[in-house]
Amino acid sequence: MSSKIKLYNPGPINVSDETYAAMAQPMIGHRGKDFQALYADCQPLLKKYFETENPVFLSTSSAWGVMEGAIRNLVGKKVLNCCCGAFSDKWFDVSKRCGKEAEALSFEWGQPVDPAALDAKLATGEFDTVTLVHSETSTGVLSDLEAIGAVLKKYPNVCSVVDTVSSFSTVPTPVDALGIDVMLTGSQKALALPPGLALFTCSERALSRAAEQTDRGYYFDFLEFKKNHDKDMTPSTPTISLIYGLRAKLLEIESEGIQQRYERHARLNAKVHAWVEKHGYAFFAPEGYRSKALTCVANNKETDLPKLIQMLRDEHSLIIDGGYGKVKGKTFRISNMGDETDASMEIVLNALDDCLAKL
Ligand SMILES: *Cc1c(COP(=O)(O)O)cnc(C)c1O
Repeated sequence: MSSKIKLYNPGPINVSDETYAAMAQPMIGHRGKDFQALYADCQPLLKKYFETENPVFLSTSSAWGVMEGAIRNLVGKKVLNCCCGAFSDKWFDVSKRCGKEAEALSFEWGQPVDPAALDAKLATGEFDTVTLVHSETSTGVLSDLEAIGAVLKKYPNVCSVVDTVSSFSTVPTPVDALGIDVMLTGSQKALALPPGLALFTCSERALSRAAEQTDRGYYFDFLEFKKNHDKDMTPSTPTISLIYGLRAKLLEIESEGIQQRYERHARLNAKVHAWVEKHGYAFFAPEGYRSKALTCVANNKETDLPKLIQMLRDEHSLIIDGGYGKVKGKTFRISNMGDETDASMEIVLNALDDCLAKL
């Protein structure tokens, strides 16, 4: 199954042969006891890593399905979308497309969400929902969830939705302790599974809020997820192969140790940071607010990124990213999430050295 091309762009990322093997199991009915056992097997470890007492729902969709679903399930009055990069900006657009009253709390790309600004906005009493992206994959910024959680706790009538698509399992995201209502992630980023599965938690408060909304639809109706969860099932036919892969991945995380996994990501991320500094590049995200899953490098040396990326691909069969959205060409991104190791990160950094020397 191994491809000649190795991905170091921040998602979808490389999937291991072990994961592909775990996924290649006979199909089962999703209303029978084999599926119920598979679903139930995943719950204890999912709850452990989300650090929640609530169920962890499995949605057959990419993350955006749940991101849009959260808007439809939770927003009755008005949503505040914290915007600081491509994914969080898009969430504001999606809120409006869902026909909701929405306002953007915008920060410059490359900056984190400012908890004091969030506090001031929520104090107006205008909002019943807030969305934010923990690790803005487009800018490499990691906002301070602890400080944000402290603000959210002051507003018990506001439901919070946090996207941890590129932070889940790279740093702790203790959803219950933080008081976050809905926390979601996707399969193809830090979990190193193929795309197609989104995972999310939902507080009692969020379920009560959902019950008040009349336009939840069906596919992403959180109450349907809860009702089916109580029978170890999903509302519609799930991506069973990916759930086999998920179970194997959870066991793998358990054997590595979640703390060790966080430490590995911190160490590999620091290795990329050292490379950035050695080459005189700058970081797009400020010190103290840098994702542990990827590095967004500012192209302050005006390197010919398209040429560098092509050379890396042609000569080393490796792929990095040349910047997302409006920072394309101004930044490049190197992922260290998923199954990467010291050795695999050295491969990409050495290859970059080689290409830069020849550029
Ligand atoms: C990749 C990504 C998404 C989008 O996920 P899809 O799987 O394309 O729906 C959302 N948020 C963040 C932070 C991401 O990195």
